[in-house]
Amino acid sequence: MSAENRTSWFVCLCLFTALVSAAFPATGQATSAQPIRLSVDATRAPQKILHSNLQIPASPGPLTLYYPKWLPADHSPDGPISNLAGLRFTAQGKEIPWQQDDVDMYAFHLDVPKGADSVDVSLDFLLSAPGATIDFSASGSSKLLILMWHEVLLYPAGRPANQITFEPALRLPPGWKFSTSLPVASQSGESITFAPVPLDLLVDSPVQSGEFTKVIPLTPGGKPPHELDVAADHAWALDIPAELVEGYKRLVAEAGALYQSHHYRDYHFLLTLSDNTIGLGQEHHESSDDRVPERTLVDPGKRLLEAGLFPHEFTHSWNGQFRRPEGLATSDFQQPMRGGLLWVYEGLTTYLGTILTARSGLWTPAETRESLATVASTLDHRKGRTWRSLQNTANAAQILYFAPKEWTSYRRSTDFYEESVLIWLEADVKIRTQTRGKRSLDDFCRAFFGGPDGLPVIKTYTFDDLVSAMNATAPSDWAAFFHERLHSVDPHAPLGGITGGGWRVVYNDEPNVMIEADQQASGNGDFTSSLGLVVKSDGAILDATPGMPANDAGLSPYMKIVGVNGRQFSVDDLKRALQDAKANSRPIQVLVSNIGSFETHDIVYHDGLRWPHLERVNGTSDYLDDILKPLAGNSPAP
Ligand SMILES: [Zn+2]
Repeated sequence: MSAENRTSWFVCLCLFTALVSAAFPATGQATSAQPIRLSVDATRAPQKILHSNLQIPASPGPLTLYYPKWLPADHSPDGPISNLAGLRFTAQGKEIPWQQDDVDMYAFHLDVPKGADSVDVSLDFLLSAPGATIDFSASGSSKLLILMWHEVLLYPAGRPANQITFEPALRLPPGWKFSTSLPVASQSGESITFAPVPLDLLVDSPVQSGEFTKVIPLTPGGKPPHELDVAADHAWALDIPAELVEGYKRLVAEAGALYQSHHYRDYHFLLTLSDNTIGLGQEHHESSDDRVPERTLVDPGKRLLEAGLFPHEFTHSWNGQFRRPEGLATSDFQQPMRGGLLWVYEGLTTYLGTILTARSGLWTPAETRESLATVASTLDHRKGRTWRSLQNTANAAQILYFAPKEWTSYRRSTDFYEESVLIWLEADVKIRTQTRGKRSLDDFCRAFFGGPDGLPVIKTYTFDDLVSAMNATAPSDWAAFFHERLHSVDPHAPLGGITGGGWRVVYNDEPNVMIEADQQASGNGDFTSSLGLVVKSDGAILDATPGMPANDAGLSPYMKIVGVNGRQFSVDDLKRALQDAKANSRPIQVLVSNIGSFETHDIVYHDGLRWPHLERVNGTSDYLDDILKPLAGNSPAP
């Protein structure tokens, strides 16, 4: 899904793999075990239409076909069915009437006529452009396409996804090239036939394609192969800085040193540089679908914000793909998922992604500390934590992913990403402290994510399995440790990992480099830890935290600040007003537009600009520094 603001946490995909084989009741009309032929015509992708033909083996009688609904991408039931068009069914050359289920909108019912042994399906998928809300159909531009197979297929009810074989084929626009983890059976020009593949693995294997592409091996001659596949809207964007490629090579080495296993045949970082697709990071077993704005690699601020994308998505190959919470490992794309362990699936991944970003030199230790300070400050100013537990943010992920940005502090967001960084840091520090540095969360990772190498398989776990593995690393009451933090409604964030790691959070008027980079990229003004206010460049208020000065003064989301202390609003003018207010006793006066009315509000605040940082606590063990050190023996870039 998308890289969010400030500290760039990633909302990601997970999908089914070959070991998911829950008992699955047969429903509807029995279908043949023969492969389903799927032919996708993407030659009109620049015109925003993908055409798909399927030949589905079937026998006469009622048949139910599904459009994938629960997309592990978002751990949510949001398959983009509204962009499905032109749906037609035929058998033996004759049209078959169909009905959409009147309760389950993702199910289609039809009757296979006598004498037929298959049904032909013809459908279009309508691509879109990035908008204000998450929209996975925004996956193509005039120059490139990321084909997500689940968008262009139906599959028969009655069998688990790992027992339905597809024979996929794809036709691309003239001159376009492609990259994917799917094995290719044959190719003729822009027409590609892939080897037969189970549905779960097909959906787990997007195809990146485009006019401007580049392939950069990251482990030349090594096994398994890892490569960086780049597609962009313009040729100039393919010029990846050499030091960045070196950083990605170190990332592969550091992940190898941390996990000491791999669960893929080869691995593709599918990097798309475009302003015309939805920005996201989606994890797969053997690839990641990483989409960032076109200038990300040449703009230092954007590059800093997105540096953690590859480490996060790559980590998911182990945490999320190979090891998957039981509630998220469903047998097909229609079964509801339970997100209770997303604080492990996404949260531990965010922690491990953070430390791998540092260990591979994609962030300096100082930048990593700025990121941690931002996480700590953000979560410490979440008003909603007094009514909604972190556990609830995981349980309600399917709602929170799609909630508006307005009122984030009071509603809370998908905080199981970022807050879990603090919790897993505390767990890591606790293990190191308890064992006097002999063991760490690295040992847990080697044990929990280890296993047979080389194939994209899944091994599910429960909370109890996790606690057992933690106990095997360093005995403690880990169940209580996690429960206390997951169910807390304390107004303050859990900062024990930072203090136990030898650091503390401080606030001063020195800009935080991560928040500064985000403000540069978004144009927003982030006054979270001073006024309790986030405002867009045009004055529109995104958030005003209850109990903090801006909200106390009467401001709220959906108002628009038009003036500050008698001047026309700008983010810089508001910053200046905070600095001025530090030296006098006058309130900061703001003029706001509130749905057609103008209002004046006085913000009583005199503490100036306040940005979070980490400060070393002298005389304590610097476990945080130990955690961020490379394991692989190759020093990160200066
Ligand atoms: Zn993720």
